[in-house]
Amino acid sequence: MKFCSECAHPVALAIPEGDNRPRYVCTHCDAIHYQNPKLVVGSIPVWEGDGELKVLLCKRAIEPRYGYWTLPAGFMENAETTAEAAVRETEEEAGAHIELGQLFTLLNVAHVHQVHLFYLARLRDLEFAPGIESLEVQLFSEREIPWDELAFPTIRTTLELFFADRVKMREGGSYGFHSHDIVRPMRMAGAPG
Ligand SMILES: [Zn+2]
Repeated sequence: MKFCSECAHPVALAIPEGDNRPRYVCTHCDAIHYQNPKLVVGSIPVWEGDGELKVLLCKRAIEPRYGYWTLPAGFMENAETTAEAAVRETEEEAGAHIELGQLFTLLNVAHVHQVHLFYLARLRDLEFAPGIESLEVQLFSEREIPWDELAFPTIRTTLELFFADRVKMREGGSYGFHSHDIVRPMRMAGAPG
């Protein structure tokens, strides 16, 4: 940031008294502008039609990762709960109506200052359609999932954990809750590194 959102004067990086790390501090009104991680919240919308379980994915119509597939997810808004954010993002990006289940993954993406949360979800019906941030919305079985065209490491991790838990469920287990740290970006087609 360059300018104070309170008075529009320039800000400078400084360690405020009693603090231990640099913050943007206004050179005029002394306002301290703290920057903290953002929450990205989404769902894993599932349809179990004719015996085969399928997951709803959205093809991104926006950067970053235009044209790559993602679970419906987005930045949490003020004054909403994480569950409300998951339902809202699923409606906005996939036009899908879900019944929300348990929180499934909590993924720290510390290097981009984000925490990603994904909830299990069941599609109420098959009436979905791409929102303005999606090119397409489509149901995929496990073998149909475009693993090489997934938008973000948190999407891949969440889907891998989801299908791993499905295997456990066939052996009498149930869905778990999974907390992971995404330490560095995956190697993916179209992504540096
Ligand atoms: Zn100021």
